[in-house]
Amino acid sequence: MTDMADATHATTRVPLTRKPGKAAPADAAPSPGAGKTACIRTFGCQMNVHDSDRMRRMILDAGYAEVQAYEEADIVVLNTCYVRENAVDRVRGHLGELSRLKKEGRVKKVALTGCVGAAEEASGLERQFGIDLVLGTHNTYELAEFVGLPGMEETRTPDLPGTGDGDSAFVTIMTGCNYQCSYCIVPTVRGRMACRPMEDIVAEVEGLVAGGTKYITLLGQTVDAWRYDGKRFCDLLERVSEAAPRVWFTTSHPSNMEDRTLRAMGERGTIVGRLHLPVQSGSDRMLKIMHRGYKAERYRRKIEVFREAVPDGALSTDIIVGHPGETDGDHDRTLELVEDCAFDSAYIFKFSPRGGTEAAEMEGRVPDDVVQKRFLQILRAVEKNGFEANQRKVGSEEEIYIRRGLSDSGQAIGETWGGHAVRLDREVSNGAEPGDYVRASISSAGPHALYAGARG
Ligand code: SF4
Repeated sequence: MTDMADATHATTRVPLTRKPGKAAPADAAPSPGAGKTACIRTFGCQMNVHDSDRMRRMILDAGYAEVQAYEEADIVVLNTCYVRENAVDRVRGHLGELSRLKKEGRVKKVALTGCVGAAEEASGLERQFGIDLVLGTHNTYELAEFVGLPGMEETRTPDLPGTGDGDSAFVTIMTGCNYQCSYCIVPTVRGRMACRPMEDIVAEVEGLVAGGTKYITLLGQTVDAWRYDGKRFCDLLERVSEAAPRVWFTTSHPSNMEDRTLRAMGERGTIVGRLHLPVQSGSDRMLKIMHRGYKAERYRRKIEVFREAVPDGALSTDIIVGHPGETDGDHDRTLELVEDCAFDSAYIFKFSPRGGTEAAEMEGRVPDDVVQKRFLQILRAVEKNGFEANQRKVGSEEEIYIRRGLSDSGQAIGETWGGHAVRLDREVSNGAEPGDYVRASISSAGPHALYAGARG
């Protein structure tokens, strides 16, 4: 529901894998974590996944080995998300299990990090479950000392190397958010916007590319709000698009999205043409209540520029259904906007109140059955648009970047330069690995993906 919502709020297990070439020299002093094990469990958005990657790097540098199960871990890091209504309850469940394992002498130490670590409830949880370390989202670097590394000096803008899984990497360019959307906890838990210097970002990208990274995603809560020393996001994007072979960015805010950024997406051959631009509502009245800072007409104009600049680009958005005060008329405006913008996909959220947000206290709650009805109407409209747009691509020949190699189900997953997801069958993918390109023609299409080869 925040503007980072393109990452699903499902629980994500972050694999702890040592980067190649990182083995400690033979004559090095024993690492503090040598012979010990660590497990990181991540909940929430892409930003959290990225934070976990950074903490993982510290854990690996300290010599810990990866394990996936709590029972096998000496230390456990729970990197948490506050977005879902029952987030704290869910974390409580995990902490209960971990406290039992600690009593049995299996798990030695537990760290609670991320949005719940920064929330009011954290101190209660710390006392109740005897948590060894509680960190918010701005001081994850303190984990270094916890795992036995020398303390790190770090500003609020992270400058640790980008992380990813070999072929691709996320590079955080800014943290926090200066907006105050009625329903969002991000400004409370992540603080105000802080941007990294351009030169640091470009140097990091160049280092990653030199190390074999082929796909850079620039990351931030409102990534297009980035500015530093008179430079704006488009300046940075252009520099990065010269330094990296493939670039994307997420998540954008309509008020910050400049036309020249949209045009650069169409002009620069290394920028993926997918735009994720959360609109949240098509009603000006609701956009005002939500404090979004733009009107529906302005959003439509941005989309017109995008469609003209990147005719083949995929467009996705976030929509909140049933925010307090939403009337049938407001909902109709959203449906109209969905039709006008013809989104390829959307993350549609039924409103649920978050403690500490303005919307949680607002009157005018929308009954559940009405929310469900509106949700389905928007979902159907988006899926219809997505399906029709995908059908138009059948028969086209695409250069497809492989994101995931062949799975047990016999399909590889890739992405076109327009940012459309493609499923490739065994024959078409022909053993391609993540980071490879495959030229293939689109044989069929569903509402959510294109297919190359047999549909399987
Ligand atoms: S407050 Fe910031 S992060 Fe939250 S939804 Fe609004 S713009 Fe996005």
